[in-house]
Amino acid sequence: MVNSTVILGSTGSIGRQSAAVCRRLGIRVPAIAANRNVGLLLKQVEDFAPEYVSASDPGANRELREALSGKGVTVGPPGEEGLRIAAAWPGAECVVTAVSGAVGLRPTLDAIDAGRRIALANKETLVCAGAIVMRRARERGAEIVPVDSEHSAIFQSLSGRRGELRRILLTGSGGPFRGWSREQTASVTPEQAVRHPNWSMGAKISVDSATMMNKGLEFIEAMHLFSAAPDDIEVLIHPESVVHSAVELVDGSVIAQLGVPDMALPIQYALTWPERRPGASERLDLTALAGLHFMKPDLEKMPCLALAMDCARRGGNAPAVMSAANEAAVGLFLSRRLGYNEIYGSVSAALGSIGFIAEPSLDEIIESDHEAREFIKENYA
Ligand code: MG
Repeated sequence: MVNSTVILGSTGSIGRQSAAVCRRLGIRVPAIAANRNVGLLLKQVEDFAPEYVSASDPGANRELREALSGKGVTVGPPGEEGLRIAAAWPGAECVVTAVSGAVGLRPTLDAIDAGRRIALANKETLVCAGAIVMRRARERGAEIVPVDSEHSAIFQSLSGRRGELRRILLTGSGGPFRGWSREQTASVTPEQAVRHPNWSMGAKISVDSATMMNKGLEFIEAMHLFSAAPDDIEVLIHPESVVHSAVELVDGSVIAQLGVPDMALPIQYALTWPERRPGASERLDLTALAGLHFMKPDLEKMPCLALAMDCARRGGNAPAVMSAANEAAVGLFLSRRLGYNEIYGSVSAALGSIGFIAEPSLDEIIESDHEAREFIKENYA
């Protein structure tokens, strides 16, 4: 178990749950960073007495600085720099990367360079730069332990069996609009899209779960985390969200991890690994379940998943373009400037318009990310 961890994105859904796990297990939190929820940041400063705190939003950063003036806490600069300082904060053993989107990329690399364990909750980092991030982690000997529930399940199921993997079975509930036609989803509102039937999550990932883009991002995340080829990963729709994912081994054995849908469990495991500590989640009562169901995904009705699987096969900068265009499109959808069905159309158009790079450098990935966001802004905002 780690004794101390930094939390990036400490006021978001995963950040708050990570803070609760740290409090319960007595894990020290020497640095926290978030975007603009100053009220909660101040509360977390009281709870954890960190040495460092930062807010990315310039206005929130000023407010934070005023509130903490003379209190003996270092307040970092706004923007990416504030996150990067937190990521490499001296003396921490681990960094929980719980920011949403590509903004997590550089801070994650900084934490790897500093030799920290990465409790990875920011899947966009691996989606856009998985090859670079995983290579860097190998070179620096940094451990990457997934927080995403599916990847935690795969990680746990594969423990000690890496060489025996035949296939990854990546499960997903199918989201709130499973089985809906394109005509039916045309009028979906942000309020409907963020209400996930099983999991309580932030707005961006909830929309991604509804469009199934989240499963597509997870498909690419799994390829990088477990060195798997696209053909070695099968997506299964599993509406009950009890089997969090599974692995099929070379002899045909299937090993799965099950539990109630509660992110506290994978968060805790990323911090206690390779040990386990008593958890606070509700216990799973298999006899109370009406049944467990598994289906192949209907890719016709899940165009974002199909698009992401296609990008996974294309590789290069395609996943980065897709992920950035999706982030921008979901932002427009949440502010009611883009229809639900246009999320797919706009991401697909961005992929068609931005030049393909087979082996992008980090700078080229960041450039592709900017181009994709610009494309969405110019054509859809
Ligand atoms: Mg997940």
